Amino acid sequence: MIQSLMMSMPLNIATLIQHADRHHGSVEIVSRRVEGDLHRTTYRELHRRARQLANALATLGIGPGDRVATLAWNGYRHLELYFAVSGSGAVLHTINPRLHPEQIGWIARHAGDKVLFFDSCFGPLAQAVRRAAPQVRHFVAMTDRDRMADAGPEPALCYEELLEASTDAFEWPALDETTASSMCYTSGTTGDPKGVLYSHRSTVLHSLACALPDAFNLSSRDTVLPVVPMFHVNAWGLPYAAPMVGARLVLPGARLDGPSLYELFEAEGVTMSAGVPTVWQGLVAHLEANGLKLSTLKRMVIGGAACAPSMLQRLQDRGVQVLHAWGMTEMSPLGTVCSLKASQLNLTPTEQLAIRSRQGRVLYPVDMKVVDEQGQELPWDGNSSGDLMVRGPWVASEYFQGGSALRGGWFSTGDVANIDQEGFMRITDRSKDVIKSGGEWISSIELECIALSHPGVANAACIAVAHPKWGERPLLVIVCKSGQTVTREQVLAHFADKVARWQVPDDVVFVDAIPLGATGKMLKGQLRERFREHRWPGA
Ligand code: ADP
Repeated sequence: MIQSLMMSMPLNIATLIQHADRHHGSVEIVSRRVEGDLHRTTYRELHRRARQLANALATLGIGPGDRVATLAWNGYRHLELYFAVSGSGAVLHTINPRLHPEQIGWIARHAGDKVLFFDSCFGPLAQAVRRAAPQVRHFVAMTDRDRMADAGPEPALCYEELLEASTDAFEWPALDETTASSMCYTSGTTGDPKGVLYSHRSTVLHSLACALPDAFNLSSRDTVLPVVPMFHVNAWGLPYAAPMVGARLVLPGARLDGPSLYELFEAEGVTMSAGVPTVWQGLVAHLEANGLKLSTLKRMVIGGAACAPSMLQRLQDRGVQVLHAWGMTEMSPLGTVCSLKASQLNLTPTEQLAIRSRQGRVLYPVDMKVVDEQGQELPWDGNSSGDLMVRGPWVASEYFQGGSALRGGWFSTGDVANIDQEGFMRITDRSKDVIKSGGEWISSIELECIALSHPGVANAACIAVAHPKWGERPLLVIVCKSGQTVTREQVLAHFADKVARWQVPDDVVFVDAIPLGATGKMLKGQLRERFREHRWPGA
């Protein structure tokens, strides 16, 4: 062996904003503020304020490794924290404000947060943290002096005052690239939330990979609007990848309804966006009801939960290319993105839609495999489903104060999936959501996608309910589109010829709404509980 003669330059999050300042300094960051107005700044100014904030953090006694929590929407101040906290060697802990206040308090305590920065609308949640996590020393309301009253009656420091009192002379420290940079807790849909601790290295590598053409295809010609919140797995890496490529950023704040998003997309000329299926449902409904098109949007990444082919088609009909993506908190979060290969470009639109509704191909250098119950790898035949395992430099190896997360060097995702000959993965279920009928597995996601393709169905969840003969059978829970009525028979008839007879749901129930968790995913556990005693027809 011989040592190389290359420079040793640790990967460091601060270099992303330094680069954006130096090479894309005048590129805009537009934020819809909690205060209601639109705010404009640039990467140069953001970098200057991040340096001020780094000095302010030192004044507050924040040192290397200390956890700095946020409860905030997507906005420029949150972005300043992304760089100031990690860049100075502390750990940015983004907390999901949609969680129950008790869970927020539990997470802040478990993480050992020292400071909490919060948007003024989250004053009551800051209170919950105050009660549950006494080690939190400072509370900082992310607003200016005049609006401090909005942050609630409890004493808090003022973000803008802290910045005013600090100079922008700050040298980002040279950190070891394996230093912890940020942390997120899983949303707890599968038990207690677990802390995932990212590094500078994992974050920078993830940013490089997610910008690639077969992933998000980001460039300095893009205007990126992350609908996915900055408190949900680092907004899928966009707050890092956008400055890295010099893309313009539009941060939508708290208004994520269809009309507000449409207005922002059009007014700011957004070319790329990303979010979970539930937010796009609102946008698509608004577009269709008003005969609108998105005139500048080119790509929309949909992930976090399965995107039904009908949704892909409806967006494609409005001129938007949808990229289906899959990942999880433990994966920073990106694992796969569904971009077609050259050999697939000549397929018919129907064949392409079938591929694009898969969750896609893995991003180098992450690798994946599906295994059976004995841990044996299953063939890539597009059909053999098993436990999905991953490994890579931005995949968690341990949970924060929680022990190893690995099995034989691989991370077991808790998802059930298959992989086709070309390496396109399809999630068929969360392992706990699989319906086990008479020794066979039925994919709840596949049945939901079929139900959603019925024109009168707004939302659908398919759950396992106990059955005296088969162990479990699928029950379909449906929300009808407003003003439309659909019968049980019509829904079931829609399954004819689409799946084998034994996979067709046994019954349909209609509800006003499907319960959603803090990250916009269906809470099937609640539905299983609610319909546990469901009486099957003829029983
Ligand atoms: P939590 O695990 O607490 O729900 P995450 O946000 O980390 O929080 O969720 C990751 C999970 O979301 C994945 O393991 C998978 O089950 C689901 N998921 C993410 N993207 C997709 C997708 N495109 N299709 C189906 N399921 C998805």
